[in-house]
Amino acid sequence: MQGRLAPSPSGHLHIGNASSLLLAWLDARSSGSALMMRMDDLDPQRSKMAFAEAALTDLSWMGLNWDGEVLYQSASHDRYRSALQQLIDQDLVYACNCSRKAIQSAMQDVVRAPHGKPLAGYPGTCANKGLPLNGGHALRFRWSGDPFVLQRADGAWSYQLAVVVDDAHQAIRSVVRGMDLKESIPPQKALIEALGLEGATYWHVPLWMGPDGHRLSKRHGDIAIRDFKARGWTPEALIGWISHGLGLNEQAKPLSAQELLTVFDHQRVKSQPVLHEEVLPLWA
Ligand SMILES: [Zn+2]
Repeated sequence: MQGRLAPSPSGHLHIGNASSLLLAWLDARSSGSALMMRMDDLDPQRSKMAFAEAALTDLSWMGLNWDGEVLYQSASHDRYRSALQQLIDQDLVYACNCSRKAIQSAMQDVVRAPHGKPLAGYPGTCANKGLPLNGGHALRFRWSGDPFVLQRADGAWSYQLAVVVDDAHQAIRSVVRGMDLKESIPPQKALIEALGLEGATYWHVPLWMGPDGHRLSKRHGDIAIRDFKARGWTPEALIGWISHGLGLNEQAKPLSAQELLTVFDHQRVKSQPVLHEEVLPLWA
């Protein structure tokens, strides 16, 4: 079994990100697995090297370590290109020149779920158009589900393709990630199968919510790990509260990552989101 830490350097790590990464670390270290570090820096507009470096610093400050070199997805184009070719050879790829607007208007006709979210993503408008694959269009994956993008028109690789290819490349067998990524299982399984790769087991862990009831993000204020550090928090105090939010530390007792490891139990991690009122001192 081998695990991974895979932050996205599109901003500073906040407590929600840190919570998932802490659980990935606990999962690997409690089973004696190696833990690989990978920067999910695929998006050329949003990813910044300064954020990547800051993430490594923040994780080290928290006492989370990893094994081996950092793998940068932005330096892995050849691997994605050859996986794409493998899919093209099986006729599982088609080009799509739909604008975002065209997709939205086509979606108006698609049945909607009660909460207003479309049941399917893209209606497959271009599936039989036979557009050239090298014509500067987005490339989509043809399978039984929503034909998601593998490579954008601007050449950027999709999360789905990169994550599947890199998990296999790094021999990752245990993936720990946020609950929001649970819906990625079917498309990723389809890709894993089409590429003949070995899959992993997945543990989807609780998301963190802000006072507005929405998933934690930068717009919630000073919730980055470095904001806590700047306010004088110790790593032990922060891990104490993060582990409390997750159900692992009843009294929010300050703990180092190593101390938490000695009492860690997968079964005690709650499955519900962590609400802001459960961890009020983090918001003070
Ligand atoms: Zn299209």
